[in-house]
Amino acid sequence: MASGKRRALVTGGAGFLGQHLVQQLLDTAQYDVTIFDIKAPEDSKVTVVVGDLRRMDQLLAAVRGKDVVFHCAAAAPSAENAMNNTLMQAVNVDGTANIIKACQEAQVPHLVYTSSASVVFEGKPLHMVNEDQPYATKPMDFYTRTKIRGEQLVLAANGQAGLSTVALRPSGIFGEGDPIFVPTVVKQARAGKMKFVIGNGKNLMDWTYVGNVAQAHVQAAAALAGPRSSRVAGRAYFITNQDPRPF
Ligand code: NAD
Repeated sequence: MASGKRRALVTGGAGFLGQHLVQQLLDTAQYDVTIFDIKAPEDSKVTVVVGDLRRMDQLLAAVRGKDVVFHCAAAAPSAENAMNNTLMQAVNVDGTANIIKACQEAQVPHLVYTSSASVVFEGKPLHMVNEDQPYATKPMDFYTRTKIRGEQLVLAANGQAGLSTVALRPSGIFGEGDPIFVPTVVKQARAGKMKFVIGNGKNLMDWTYVGNVAQAHVQAAAALAGPRSSRVAGRAYFITNQDPRPF
């Protein structure tokens, strides 16, 4: 740590959450940040490595010398990817296994994984549940199945080969730069397709502001590096706003 700063790698740092996380890490003035992403961000204040989670050689080179890896990259359940189970398995499960292996080989001590609150959802109402809630036995889609498997791999790796891990579970993320949810709602509304209600219109859905999700990542890394690391290492945490919002 020549600069006295911690060296962080953010996988998916060109994405929606990743960009917010990179900015918040820079705002702390405690991190030198590198992005690892299959696509380069449009502009960036930090070092960018364009690489693929499926390429172990690229990952190993990128994680070497880092103090913490934030693993935010994923093949998202976009219209383009939704039916591509092979891609989601290769990126979200095998790519996560690669990250773990790379961290262990390069002796990176801390790994923060972006999971999803959907890992416990299987179509039935969930109200005020906590992290004791078991994983969904029938996840709502293949993407969620890959997020469950990725989280299981990350948590099982805690304490193995010098690596401490934590998993964060945001719900649907909203905020500045959102590429999916709000743009989709606006598109549907403009096309006149918002005139139906599922259920009685009182359904609640948990949404998480992107700044809160990014902040949770910064805090999780600080906790892993702090004196009470053993209290958080190997655990998963839901990241929510205070109240569920009407959906
Ligand atoms: P995003 O699609 O904006 O960002 C994901 C990034 O990963 C992209 O920049 C993409 O280029 C990169 N990526 C994809 N495949 C890659 C590969 N093979 N190698 C390297 N980089 C690759 O998605 P996001 O909304 O920012 O999601 C970030 C994380 O949060 C993901 O792990 C996602 O599962 C999780 N999450 C998102 C939401 C949400 O509502 N957006 C909710 C819960 C959890």
